[in-house]
Amino acid sequence: MRKVLSSIAMLCLAASLSAAQNTPSKKSNPSGTSHDAGMAQIPSFEASALDKSAEPCVDFYQFSCGGWLKNNPIPPDQAAWGRFNELAERNRAALHDILENAAKAKTRDADEQKIGDYYASCMDVPAINKKGIAVLKPEFDRIDALKDKSELTAEISHLHSQGIGVLFSFSSGPDFKNANEVIGQADQGGLSLPDRDYYLKTDAKSDELRKQYVAHVTTMFKLLGDSPEKAAQESATVMRIETALAKGAMDRVERRDPEKIYHKISEQDWQALTPSLSWSKYITDLGAPSFTSLNVVAPDFFKALDAELKDVSLDDLKTYMRWHLVHEQAEYLPEPLDKETFNFYGRILTGAKEQQARWKRCTASADGDIGEALGKLYVEKNFPPQAKERTLAMVKQLEDALRKDITGLDWMSEATKKQALIKLEAIQNKIGYPNKWRDYSALKIVRGEALGNSLRANEFEVNREIQKIGKPFDKSEWQMTPPTVNAYYDPSENDINFPAGILQPPFYNFKADDAVNFGGIGAVIGHELTHGFDDQGRLFDADGNLHDWWTAEDAKAFEERAQCLVDEYNGFVAVDDVHLNGKLTLGENTADNGGLRIALMALLASMNTSSGTRIPAKLDGFTPEQRAFLGWGQIWCQNQTPEIARLLALTNEHSLDKFRVNGVVSNMPEFQKAWGCKAGQPMVRQNACRVW
Ligand SMILES: [Zn+2]
Repeated sequence: MRKVLSSIAMLCLAASLSAAQNTPSKKSNPSGTSHDAGMAQIPSFEASALDKSAEPCVDFYQFSCGGWLKNNPIPPDQAAWGRFNELAERNRAALHDILENAAKAKTRDADEQKIGDYYASCMDVPAINKKGIAVLKPEFDRIDALKDKSELTAEISHLHSQGIGVLFSFSSGPDFKNANEVIGQADQGGLSLPDRDYYLKTDAKSDELRKQYVAHVTTMFKLLGDSPEKAAQESATVMRIETALAKGAMDRVERRDPEKIYHKISEQDWQALTPSLSWSKYITDLGAPSFTSLNVVAPDFFKALDAELKDVSLDDLKTYMRWHLVHEQAEYLPEPLDKETFNFYGRILTGAKEQQARWKRCTASADGDIGEALGKLYVEKNFPPQAKERTLAMVKQLEDALRKDITGLDWMSEATKKQALIKLEAIQNKIGYPNKWRDYSALKIVRGEALGNSLRANEFEVNREIQKIGKPFDKSEWQMTPPTVNAYYDPSENDINFPAGILQPPFYNFKADDAVNFGGIGAVIGHELTHGFDDQGRLFDADGNLHDWWTAEDAKAFEERAQCLVDEYNGFVAVDDVHLNGKLTLGENTADNGGLRIALMALLASMNTSSGTRIPAKLDGFTPEQRAFLGWGQIWCQNQTPEIARLLALTNEHSLDKFRVNGVVSNMPEFQKAWGCKAGQPMVRQNACRVW
């Protein structure tokens, strides 16, 4: 099922790209070309990736990546193809080998049985086709049998227990203001398009996408055996209900403000918002521990939900629930439903030309559903203990640089600096994989039951999350699986998290020149550390509590500097008339800018020590500083379809890759010095922004 990071954990890569690419209920990484090609070693720095005809001071992204972009067109089964996709594909190939072996092995331990049989069942498309849509009959019968709206609560609870996201969401999370305790979290939900804005925007492109979505829903109902007339009515119903939910939902920019998504209220007050449902019954049916208060993330949404529930007929709600079941589980249903889902969510929404090979998707689903059982075997084979030690050493160098950076800031008072340094010292570093692996013994995986396995894996995960309510917050847990090519900072945990999957070339090559490593993984480590001090992270203290530790004057100075970044990134055009959203991407842009700056500081400090001997004065004709900038530039080389560029610009908190490079370096006097740029050139911003 979809892995939901605790509502404000901050990532380093645009992870949502993958979610939209295929079956939307599954977390899957962007993938690559062929299995064998993916296994080749990936260099950190590639001279052939450069475009030496481009001028670094005019377009540094083109200079760093022009050769790569020309020689690496997007494979037909992808919406985007970049250097980190090569790594993700290599990791996926490693997982694929593990899964194939586990599926065939004669003797297996309990975890190998689960991953092997999960994968084999997912791969057995003939068996899935043969079973047909009859596998959904027990669920459809339950929905059909509902006699009046008083029975709705029980059915919603039943669907939610299997991870089917109808109407709203309920899970658990740390209490923002008491990070030692986990509380229940009720939130908006129930949509099938990537964002509320897809239902509400009035431009021509949004209009067209909505028409295509309705056509897709119609086709899906027809594939379930409904007449064309009935299917057309049903899709209109789905669109109407989802649009009502979208209207009640908060937008992404608002949701970046932790105070706006924190409303700790009693269960009775939650009930008062939504009289049409019975929360005490919902909680009991779901099997959640009882509680007196919870975080109702978006109270206005629950008011809108109640109005909609009063307005809509029971038959229409049945249609909506049937839709979500089919839509979210299409990967485990007969091929026509799976292919039609790709047609809309892959081809139309992201611009991919072909559906990914089944093994790629089943591997990604196994990673999403039982990822730590699979990840444990991945780590044994792919992440030696030295890799962890070396990464920790580099983290320490980045922490030293950030300490120096904070100490030297001219806009921050001593009082706030003192608090910032306390927070920095408290950051925990989680590297590679969890100290304690998840126990899947309660999860039953049965060979030949692709849909059943998916639903039971969802049930296991939903239950695991809700059983945390009322318990102490376990900060040692991971929100990403070990092979993931990504990283995150969690403000409630005050920690940085680097899965084994990203600690490899092109981000980090233990054998390569460290100048490039500082520009790659060094800047990513700096990025995650900076998240503790971006516009969201700065609102949390060293213990992970939402608690203001800034003087009013320093907070004002911060906001002025942050506004400079908002204005800068608002100016970048993603595709057609779609600009980046400077407010949506502010946290990530702050982290990119601060991260590369402190990585460069760490590189310079390292050159004066014994480890500096690993950094030649000139390599491939470039100085260490230049190689660090090229390291940064080249991790972001990526070709994208216009469709995915549009989707990401509208929904993702990360800027598009080109601007992650040019937006950052044009703010840095260090860059201008390293490359000899002159005032007036495009990579020399007149109003350069700097927060950290
Ligand atoms: Zn980030």
